[in-house]
Amino acid sequence: MTLRHDAAIVLGLVTALALSACGRSEKAAVPPVAAVAAAPAGPKLYILDCGTITAMDPGLYNLKKEEIARGETSFVSPCYLIVHPNGTLAWDLGQVPDAKIPDDGTEVTEQEVLKATRRLDRQLEALGHPVKDITFVAMSHYHADHTANANAFAASTWIVQQAEYDLMFKEGDIAIRTPDSYVALKDAKRIALNNADHDVFGDGTVVIKTAPGHTPGHQMLFLRLANFGPLLLAGDLYHLPEERSLDRVPTFDFDAAMTRDTRRKVETFLVETGAQMWIQHDPATNAPLKKAPEFYD
Ligand SMILES: [Zn+2]
Repeated sequence: MTLRHDAAIVLGLVTALALSACGRSEKAAVPPVAAVAAAPAGPKLYILDCGTITAMDPGLYNLKKEEIARGETSFVSPCYLIVHPNGTLAWDLGQVPDAKIPDDGTEVTEQEVLKATRRLDRQLEALGHPVKDITFVAMSHYHADHTANANAFAASTWIVQQAEYDLMFKEGDIAIRTPDSYVALKDAKRIALNNADHDVFGDGTVVIKTAPGHTPGHQMLFLRLANFGPLLLAGDLYHLPEERSLDRVPTFDFDAAMTRDTRRKVETFLVETGAQMWIQHDPATNAPLKKAPEFYD
């Protein structure tokens, strides 16, 4: 009885509050012009086409062909543009240099397996954000399928983990590295991170997240999109969903134990934030997504 009575009172109170809130919101339904102008808009995410990768040996990912649901290991290589009210960020920069890609849609192949049909610079220009105007640039890591057009962004501010920077410019032969593609960034204005996250625009909506293992300074991109919700672009933390479900680390990772440690932290992060994770190279993840000029916000 008492409980029901209390509940009735609470319900009545809630109803009264809701009604009064409705009354207030009706009066405030048309906010002053200044308030509208000052309302911060969130970031937009554009997915760009930076090519595909020929089917690779499943053994590179510590998987057997029969363990891979789609039966083969070809990949996509998207690039991304984030447009925030206070600037822009280009995330991952392609695998074939624009200068080698004709404008007629002919497919060009680099290093035998990296293919592209569309220039990154033209795609950015078409969205009204030409390369020269891009505020920040960041790559998930230094591998050749992420850096092809880095030199074009020497006027942007480069966000990089110091460990990655050191390896990128270290003397000697280092696998999957194409220093010619990013040498112009060496002395570019940069934000160097010491195995740390970085809130790019200071409002928590666009955050570079440290995720070492695949390479020493591998990083990911976390977005808080107003309509879509929280989203993690995972870089190459995984290439295939089966790496996650079967707990396999690629043979060519810099430090497998470090990768596993990062993966554990990421799983916790996904639960805490409720974020979706996109495996960037996974064709099944990428295929149904909206492509530029459509966007996520
Ligand atoms: Zn990659």
